[in-house]
Amino acid sequence: MQRLDEARISRRGLLQSTSAATLAGLAVACGRSVASEVSGEPTSLKLPPLLSASESEKNDSPALLPPEKRLGVAVVGLGRLALQEILPAFAASKSCRVTALVTGDPSNKGARVAAQYGVNPKSVLNYDHYDRLSDLQDVHAVYIVLPNSLHAEFTVRAARAGKHVLCEKPMATTVADCQHMIDACAEAKKTLMIAYRMQYEPYNRELIRIARSGALGKLKSLLASNGQAQGDPKQWRLKKALSGGGALPDVGIYCLNAARYVSGEEPIEVQAMQYSTPNDPRFAEVEEQMNFSLRFPSGFTASCFTSYGCHDSKRYRVMGSLGWAELDPAFPYSGQSMRVARKREGSENEDITQPRLEAKNQFALELDHLADCIGHARKPRTPGEEGLQDVRIMTALYEAATSGGTVKLPAVPGLDAFRGPLDG
Ligand code: NAD
Repeated sequence: MQRLDEARISRRGLLQSTSAATLAGLAVACGRSVASEVSGEPTSLKLPPLLSASESEKNDSPALLPPEKRLGVAVVGLGRLALQEILPAFAASKSCRVTALVTGDPSNKGARVAAQYGVNPKSVLNYDHYDRLSDLQDVHAVYIVLPNSLHAEFTVRAARAGKHVLCEKPMATTVADCQHMIDACAEAKKTLMIAYRMQYEPYNRELIRIARSGALGKLKSLLASNGQAQGDPKQWRLKKALSGGGALPDVGIYCLNAARYVSGEEPIEVQAMQYSTPNDPRFAEVEEQMNFSLRFPSGFTASCFTSYGCHDSKRYRVMGSLGWAELDPAFPYSGQSMRVARKREGSENEDITQPRLEAKNQFALELDHLADCIGHARKPRTPGEEGLQDVRIMTALYEAATSGGTVKLPAVPGLDAFRGPLDG
């Protein structure tokens, strides 16, 4: 990030924002607080080349930016995702560092994790003392990694404590909670970003580029699945009050979000069919699986399957009038693989290519995007409005599954209507 001046903020804001008013607020808030504390362009050390020009080779070291110039982040909830993916990802982040932890077990788990990541033991809070975040000057943002129904409360409290918010998906369990989160962050003039890591992941971004370039012709349909077999029936994901639902809001949301980010459109009607194996204790409160369909204004459609009872399947294919592109797998933390098919010009044969891209840490990418947006007073690619739209559509999907009919949604004109600009 570079040092900010008011002129640059307002120029970029006006050019790039879909909401000048929101950005003006952010510019004031960020320009005078975070940006004055968090600044500087990450640099890296150049390494001498080893390989011939025919080879691809990285000749730089990871980004170098001293701790005091990084965005300080409090990680809220030390469960699987936080411990296994998010905290290790700070090592790959160009512009963030972890400066506080919030956990139900500060003295044991919290202290051990703090020691591992060099967090000041005084900056390990329990949930009851969460509001003390306002006293921690080196915490600029929180990353909420709690069960879904707790996202709203901890986002609103973070905004009131003067912190920006990165919140895990699904944004919340109701449309009303999503709106409450957006309003609280807007009122506090703080950035709200939803952690849709796929929208920062290189293969998904490349597939979006190909699909929108016209190379596949007119986009016709997307076929997606995201499923995994859940175990322990006592886990919070299977308790409706904490999760808001079963496979759909946890993993089906990836298919739904992909249909939206690949096409850029918003669906105007949805249908759904859900099923749970009778007497399976895992599915006493939430659905095991759902098949759902979306129709978009251009005629583009999506057919999706999500399940908590099938073996890992995380992929999608977008089909156009001239070709198709697929990611299989599409949604894991790493290992994405792409194929693109098009008829060879002047021939009856088809070319199938398999582009290979440099793998990047998805959580570091989204953390750096957050820091960049805060530093430049820019709306995130995946703001609260993006999360709200998924929750709105999922609510319609449950309604369609219950009624057995088609549920209509208000038409949203334009492409990427709820998204901010992409960096890089
Ligand atoms: P987890 O169960 O491993 O961790 C949840 C944490 O919340 C635990 O530390 C737990 O102690 C704490 N917690 C606080 N209050 C709780 C309560 N009342 N009940 C239960 N736990 C409580 O879950 P996770 O897999 O880390 O998921 C956390 C969030 O991250 C969820 O919103 C989930 O959807 C999201 N997630 C996102 C991805 C992704 O790829 N972006 C992947 C996994 C999970």
